[in-house]
Amino acid sequence: MTDVLLRGGLPWGLGAPADILVRAGRVARVSLSPVEAPGAQVHDVSGQLVLPGLVEAHCHLDKTLYGGPWVPHSAGDTLSGRISNDLGRRAELGVPSVARITALLERMSRAGTTHVRTHTDIDPVAGLRGVEAVREAAAASPLDVRQVAFPQHGVLTNPGTAALLEEALKSGVEAVGGLDPAGIDRDPVRHLDLIFGLAGRYGTHLDIHLHDGGTLGGWELGLIIERTKALELRGRVAVSHAYALGQLDEAAQDHLVEGLAEAGVAVVTAAVYDFPVPPVKKLRAAGVTVACGHDGIRDLWGPYGSGDMLERAMHVAYRSTFRRDDDIELALEAATVGGARALGLDDYGLAPGDRADLVVVPAGSPAEAVVVHPARTLVMKDGVVLHN
Ligand SMILES: [Zn+2]
Repeated sequence: MTDVLLRGGLPWGLGAPADILVRAGRVARVSLSPVEAPGAQVHDVSGQLVLPGLVEAHCHLDKTLYGGPWVPHSAGDTLSGRISNDLGRRAELGVPSVARITALLERMSRAGTTHVRTHTDIDPVAGLRGVEAVREAAAASPLDVRQVAFPQHGVLTNPGTAALLEEALKSGVEAVGGLDPAGIDRDPVRHLDLIFGLAGRYGTHLDIHLHDGGTLGGWELGLIIERTKALELRGRVAVSHAYALGQLDEAAQDHLVEGLAEAGVAVVTAAVYDFPVPPVKKLRAAGVTVACGHDGIRDLWGPYGSGDMLERAMHVAYRSTFRRDDDIELALEAATVGGARALGLDDYGLAPGDRADLVVVPAGSPAEAVVVHPARTLVMKDGVVLHN
């Protein structure tokens, strides 16, 4: 494997130009003085920001229509309209499609994403077809793709789903999902006991879609915190969306933020449409891991999403009303180290010894990279330059 030398870039957090030497898939040296590396492949990235690979912590690859002809959105304005649109048109549009998932992974890779966690629909109609399609596309991609077995249409209200979730975990799916234990399944205690039981039994991560808002959602967050502590699943549980956190009054919010920090539960936000965004700054100040992702990317649930995690970070910053550079940097953190923590990635970062998953952005600062999100100059995964 050829050594790679990135000359004169601005490694995020270092505050000065440096040379980065990559050897055998790892960061070997980060040096403020010029590195001599005979035989290395050299890339001059002077004045450009070097980031660790971007982490897409919440998407739905199995649903995507990306890479095919534009499909005019056909759902009604309600949630039930979107669900019936999704179920009704899948066969006609060939969803899930390995070719479309492959096209989206290629797009993500060009934009500097090196790790993806995707929620794959599991239900008695789809069975494990989505899991297999994502697996096939992922096997041919250099990206690290992890799946969440996701009960999109409920667990308790959709008999047969629990057994399929278990089958998915047995087949090697990395995480178990959940969905609105109250709003969809109407029995939060049973729903959470079931999915936490699966996560405990199979030693997997857990990532729960929680759209339930207000005091109901807040109460469910409390149940999630309790179970994470009781089962000692610190660092392995995430709540996606967690709209309630953005809706509750200050005192209730503070109480939950403290609980999430204590239990080691991560929060994953997509900052889409006008849905409430969790208080990113407060969560980070308390030490809670915050990650982000697109949610759906060009699918039967909605036509938006580009696959670019710097653009997604911009949405998180914008929806959080971040204007100062150090605040905007929190959104970049969610799209990088926050995602890495939520997914439990080892050896992630820019320090010697870390895996050489790197992205070079023609920007002079982290905030500029987020706000402008210019085309990436170079993307490297495991020490191999994928795009430049
Ligand atoms: Zn989702």
